[in-house]
Amino acid sequence: MLNKLLLSIRVPRRLLGGINRYLHEIPLSKDRYGIKRAPFSSITDKDIQHFQNILPVQNQILLGPEETTGYNRDYFRYVRGLGTIVLKPRTTNEVSAILGHCNKRRLAVSIFGGNTGVCGGSIPVFDEIIVSMELMNRIEAIDEYSGILVCQSGCVLEQLEEQLSAKRMIMPLDLGSKGSCQLGGNLATNAGGIRLMRYGNLHGSVLGLEAVIADGTVIDLMSNFKKDNTGYHLKRMFIGSEGTLGVITRVAIACPTATTTQNVLFLGMESYEAVLRTFLESKIRLGEILTSCELIDRVSLEVTVEYLKHAAPIGNFPFYMLLETTGNKKEHDDEKVREFLEFAIGRGIVADGVLACEPSKVEKLWQLRERIPAATYSNNFCLTYDLSLPLERFYDIVPAMRERVGHLVKVVCGFGHIGDSNIHLNIAGDVLTNEVQQLVDPFVYEFSRKLNGSVSAEHGIGLLKPKYLSYSKSAEAIALMKQLKVMMDPKAILNPYKVLV
Ligand SMILES: Cc1cc2nc3c(=O)[nH]c(=O)nc-3n(C[C@H](O)[C@H](O)[C@H](O)COP(=O)(O)OP(=O)(O)OC[C@H]3O[C@@H](n4cnc5c(N)ncnc54)[C@H](O)[C@@H]3O)c2cc1C
Repeated sequence: MLNKLLLSIRVPRRLLGGINRYLHEIPLSKDRYGIKRAPFSSITDKDIQHFQNILPVQNQILLGPEETTGYNRDYFRYVRGLGTIVLKPRTTNEVSAILGHCNKRRLAVSIFGGNTGVCGGSIPVFDEIIVSMELMNRIEAIDEYSGILVCQSGCVLEQLEEQLSAKRMIMPLDLGSKGSCQLGGNLATNAGGIRLMRYGNLHGSVLGLEAVIADGTVIDLMSNFKKDNTGYHLKRMFIGSEGTLGVITRVAIACPTATTTQNVLFLGMESYEAVLRTFLESKIRLGEILTSCELIDRVSLEVTVEYLKHAAPIGNFPFYMLLETTGNKKEHDDEKVREFLEFAIGRGIVADGVLACEPSKVEKLWQLRERIPAATYSNNFCLTYDLSLPLERFYDIVPAMRERVGHLVKVVCGFGHIGDSNIHLNIAGDVLTNEVQQLVDPFVYEFSRKLNGSVSAEHGIGLLKPKYLSYSKSAEAIALMKQLKVMMDPKAILNPYKVLV
């Protein structure tokens, strides 16, 4: 039910790589990032013939620039590749046959999910063969007793939510990109989102998965049990591996029971200290019914209100928070929410606020949070960062950045999942000059390193951040990651130039 109320972004296929008028303005990734092609083979007619034998159904293979354009550019206009062929397997066996052949021939592969990733992970850099998971969208089982969903990895998150709602279940994760992102992409990036606070990290909800490694071997790690302590937890290696260790083909995931009541509070605060107090009090007073706790700063609200052509729900404050509660007994939840508000307003922690429980009003409030990325991306350029930072210094990056870039950009805003210590910093404007780029990068990452934060709270490393991986991982950890990569993909054909360089 909750999912239906929230805004979803469905990116039409023809726009998957961004807005058409920008196509020629997107530099090729190889030029922008100065990447040299690794010594992979180039695809031949014989390879194409081989793929046609593996994928016999019409439309499982796309060839040529027209057909493959949307798979060569990302939605955020950061990256552009030179892929010439898209393969769309429907089964694990087809994935296995594709990878087996690519590995034998040393053909590089780029794995493509819903293309909503924020760091260029799904787009080829050169002529990698694009393996799109969109036809692997079969739901195999929904068991309402155990609460387990088993499906292929190309299922779109929002469609899974719709199917589950008939059985009074929900997905344990919810993202603004749910209309396009796929469960396989969610696992590959270990996606977070607005329910993480309540239902925990995706790692914990995934009971089992199946993946195909580079030489075509199918690794069956499926399990229908919450408890399975036999051997190493290999499934975890694939979660968050961004397609560098294998193609995730099937998933078994634990899904919570649907809730029936919902309250959304949109609150204004005069200081960041009041934000922290509100967060703490909401945990104490709302307890088990608290589902989301989001921060929105004034600039984020202003740009979103303008973009949506909505009126702001309350007056001007430096900070806003969106809190959501969900539960099963309205009187119980309403009572808790009322007590929390009385306390927070009575103590002067919260300066003003509105409360909504009707679906249309709830949706309108959520749009003010979920459409911030779209509002900032509507500028000619938008740099986006997602950091985990200690809560006491969580917001410091925003004024620090404003001071650095001054009037060189239009927008510097901070928002995000304060309940998970995860801030999104967006910097947007008309022209991305070298001066701006240099003022921003690597300052953001240095800032995070100094605070022992994470340079990627939820979006991953992809093509954009490999050189900053060492800011959040030790040299020994990176060395072990490289050893695993060599062991599982000795010819390095899977998502080359990404994550590890
Ligand atoms: C409006 C908006 C809101 C967002 N909100 C959030 C948020 O709240 N939290 C969050 O974490 N992210 C968020 N994102 C980022 C993005 O939606 C997530 O990273 C999502 O999990 C990516 O899924 P995808 O299917 O689009 O993957 P893609 O973008 O297609 O791919 C992402 C990476 O995963 C790999 N991959 C994809 N499928 C597979 C597979 N089957 N097997 C192996 N590797 C694979 C790709 O090669 C690539 O490296 C948001 C994005 C947008 C546009």
